[in-house]
Amino acid sequence: MPFAAIQGQERAIALLQRALARDRLAHAYLFIGPSGIGKKRTAYALAQAVLCNVQPRTGCGTCTACALVAAGVHPDVILLAREPGKQGLGIDQVRDLQRLLGLRPVQGEKKIALLDDAHLLHPPAQSALLKLLEEPPGDALLILLTVNSATLSRPLVSRCQQVRFRPLPLPLVEALLVREHGKDPATARTLALYSQGSLGRALSLDPKVFIEERRYLEEELQQLAGASFATLSRFAEWLVADRVKKPTKTNEIPENRTAGDRLELVLSWYEEVLRCALLGQEAVRRHTDRIPAIVRTASELGAMGALQRLTIVYDTLQALQRNANRQLAVEDMLLQLAQREPGSGRKSGSLPVPLSSP
Ligand SMILES: [Zn+2]
Repeated sequence: MPFAAIQGQERAIALLQRALARDRLAHAYLFIGPSGIGKKRTAYALAQAVLCNVQPRTGCGTCTACALVAAGVHPDVILLAREPGKQGLGIDQVRDLQRLLGLRPVQGEKKIALLDDAHLLHPPAQSALLKLLEEPPGDALLILLTVNSATLSRPLVSRCQQVRFRPLPLPLVEALLVREHGKDPATARTLALYSQGSLGRALSLDPKVFIEERRYLEEELQQLAGASFATLSRFAEWLVADRVKKPTKTNEIPENRTAGDRLELVLSWYEEVLRCALLGQEAVRRHTDRIPAIVRTASELGAMGALQRLTIVYDTLQALQRNANRQLAVEDMLLQLAQREPGSGRKSGSLPVPLSSP
């Protein structure tokens, strides 16, 4: 998997390619970003670029060295990952790594270590790793992959060159699901909506559950006006509930949850309503299977009403990132969404009264 085959991470890859071209690779990299967006693929591509004999500094993807890297069996590439049943990466694993890196490279000129889930390194393991980074044995290249750098010690982070990986654009997730994973377009669309820009996440979801959830959520949103507080409160509870995670082979520990994807879906719904109100139903992009409902809601709310509701949901998502009380914040959001003229009386950031009523 050479660099050229990785989509959506052009900035991160350009940074690595520049370093390769100038022969100025750092001794250690810290790849930071959500899981399932291409960090590991990029790390393997970097290993190929370093070890390839046919196209040095680029990686051909087909020579023996590249093929061995891609298959995960190149003798000079060491993968360190959490062992099954363990909560994190331990000091013994780092000591093993140190020993392996001290050996002479078998085929290439460098030894490359790939540390997956580096955010799960136990503190003693981090200390051992820091020592390793301070005196790297031979010509070693270390690549640490992490969903965030908050659990890593500062000295450790500062010893690495940081490379940020961004969530993928949803249309790209959708396209990859269809093209590379054989999903039908409707399923791909729904999974992409829930993916938070992570292909890996989209693939771990059960499409049936999410199609059902989406239908329920959209129906509830259309009945907000006139709903009792008890109904709104129940809906709020459902919106903030942690979904039962589908078990994965790797016994993966869920990464730190953000505000919740069900709310992202609410946001996406009002985006579509706004697009429809402004540009007509041809402009609906993601919820194309719900066009009649979107057209109806768009004509009820008008563009300004849709924009107001979008702002309310967006503000709520922001508030939740600041650790607001989830249930209360979402109840408040639903109460506002249920009003005919939402946002009236709000202190700051409120939008003007609708220019045109439906
Ligand atoms: Zn090659």
